[in-house]
Amino acid sequence: MMTSVSPRSRWKTRFLGALFVVLATAGVAVYLGWRQAVPAVRAAVVPPPRFIGLSTTFTVILEAARGRIARAEVRIVQGAAAAVVLTQPTAVGRRLEAPVTVQGATLGLREGAATLEVWARDDFWRPWRRADVPVASIPVTIDLTPPSIDVLAATQYVSEGGGGIVAFRLKGGDAAEVRARTLTFPSFPVGDAGARVALIGLPWDFRPGTPLTVTARDEAGNAASRGIPTEVRSRRFRADRIHLTEGFLEVKVAELLPQRSPTQPLLDGFLVINRDLRRQAEEEKRRVALRTAPRPLWEGAFVQPRNTKVFSNFAEMRTYVYGTQEVDKQVHLGYDLASLKQSPVPAANNGVIVFAGPLTIYGNAVVVDHGLGLQTLYGHLSSIEVKVGDSVEKGQALGRTGSTGLAMGDHLHFEVLIGGVSVTPVEWWDARWIRDHIDRPLEQAGLPAIGGARSPATAAKHTLAGAPVRHPRSPHR
Ligand SMILES: [Zn+2]
Repeated sequence: MMTSVSPRSRWKTRFLGALFVVLATAGVAVYLGWRQAVPAVRAAVVPPPRFIGLSTTFTVILEAARGRIARAEVRIVQGAAAAVVLTQPTAVGRRLEAPVTVQGATLGLREGAATLEVWARDDFWRPWRRADVPVASIPVTIDLTPPSIDVLAATQYVSEGGGGIVAFRLKGGDAAEVRARTLTFPSFPVGDAGARVALIGLPWDFRPGTPLTVTARDEAGNAASRGIPTEVRSRRFRADRIHLTEGFLEVKVAELLPQRSPTQPLLDGFLVINRDLRRQAEEEKRRVALRTAPRPLWEGAFVQPRNTKVFSNFAEMRTYVYGTQEVDKQVHLGYDLASLKQSPVPAANNGVIVFAGPLTIYGNAVVVDHGLGLQTLYGHLSSIEVKVGDSVEKGQALGRTGSTGLAMGDHLHFEVLIGGVSVTPVEWWDARWIRDHIDRPLEQAGLPAIGGARSPATAAKHTLAGAPVRHPRSPHR
């Protein structure tokens, strides 16, 4: 018997065959199209450098959409010349994060315009190989010249807990500061182009022999540093013992730690105030120091309130005694001045109010900015009559004395601050000290004086402020 295939069935087989070929071809085309369409490696440079300096650091981040990163290269290109600063020739994975440090002077390129190029490829197969082009291109400027610093003059001797000034000429930098230990004091332009000054304030425990330097940095990150020929002299400070009474602790712990649990012993509360709140106030002083005018606002010697008695000195080491126990030691960073209760508190010099309100152990406090980082602080006030932003004149009342904060009786706690560092007010109360230690170095540098009084009449016309009085030692409480 013969089996016969009907024409209809044959046609059907051919049709299905053709359909299969068409679909398969289309599938392959779609597949190849998809492979071709997979995006190239994505690149980011963080932070994108604007300059290539003597040492410039950035991170190159590459990410392949498919496959692995097969080749990565970072080049600095200048006309026909190019320097390779990173090369990664083997497959590393889908993502590559490579820190790059470029030593600009070793590139063999000139200072001036250049382009930072990132070249990268993945190992994902595509039907048509793409032409190699950079995946990122960033215009940069090659700058290999560090700033130059010429120290023109500096206060010759600065004592522990004292102030001074440094004058220098800066070329090719846009930020310069004086460093002392971990402290930094900003500099400000004065007089002719490039001349800058920085007031410095050394903490009471700043050790003689610790180096002081001017450091500067330009936009390309090129840095320079110069030593300052200032000699740090040691100074002796007094010691005092403070007897804590139950009544004082009860009042002050309730005032300064209102959230305290009633079961916490009073002494614990006091120690939180005397240590933690004191430290918080120090941190706040450093923050307030940043709000300073770039020019001197003060005029001549600083003044202290009339008819006040000094009953505590700068940098007195205080031992706190509770019962018969020594419970704490802290350093007193200002002068305590007392007269009648709720006496008006005069601004020690012209300036702008940069702080007015409660400041932990200082109670109600005011900080006046006198420019160039020089500020004065007034603590324990019963009332404040100024607000932040107000301009005040030397002798103008800022408020009234009181005993808010960690104060044992009505008095003014007065501090002079340079860059947020408390220094002895005695220096700034003394016109001669200002002339010898601030203006003389400037004069030597051929710069205009900033410390001296404009005219003696200015200080005399104010009624609240007296003439500067020297208080090397003071009667004890
Ligand atoms: Zn005080």
